[in-house]
Amino acid sequence: MAVDPTLRPPVALVLSAANSIDVEAGTDLWATAAGLAGWLREHADGPASGRVSTQEFEAARLLRDRLRALIADGDETGFDAAARALPIKVAVVEGVPALAPVADGAGGAIARIAAAAATAALDGSWDRIKLCAADDCRWAFYDESRNHSRTWCSMRVCGNRTKTRVYRARHQPA
Ligand SMILES: [Zn+2]
Repeated sequence: MAVDPTLRPPVALVLSAANSIDVEAGTDLWATAAGLAGWLREHADGPASGRVSTQEFEAARLLRDRLRALIADGDETGFDAAARALPIKVAVVEGVPALAPVADGAGGAIARIAAAAATAALDGSWDRIKLCAADDCRWAFYDESRNHSRTWCSMRVCGNRTKTRVYRARHQPA
């Protein structure tokens, strides 16, 4: 599933990173260092060389894991530790102060994901980034509803699927 092209870049980057693991399909684009390198090149201005060290690979996986927990339940456990090692600085970007990667390479590209999360929080879009409530989905999405009330990634798919399951459970013969 592609990320909505109308989303602001920091939101799109956070969603893409969170959804690099797909619970429903059972796939993980970051399962290998090569997979991660390709993803970083495509989504986070990662290096063309495609080299990801073991340390960078582990840092990226930990960041994604903690990012998903924070989005899903506001679970802050381990997030600071996951972000601490990332090379982030404050720099002038397009005329304004912004969070930016210190380093080039894969480390910098991974840092860009954490910087995007912080940027989304600053502009108020973080509160609309959610993880689908369906246990077999857990897809990260942007809630554009007026009162931020969406629980499922898509009412038509996950919402109905869950409702159908609840209905079936309630109406099963005893
Ligand atoms: Zn869903």
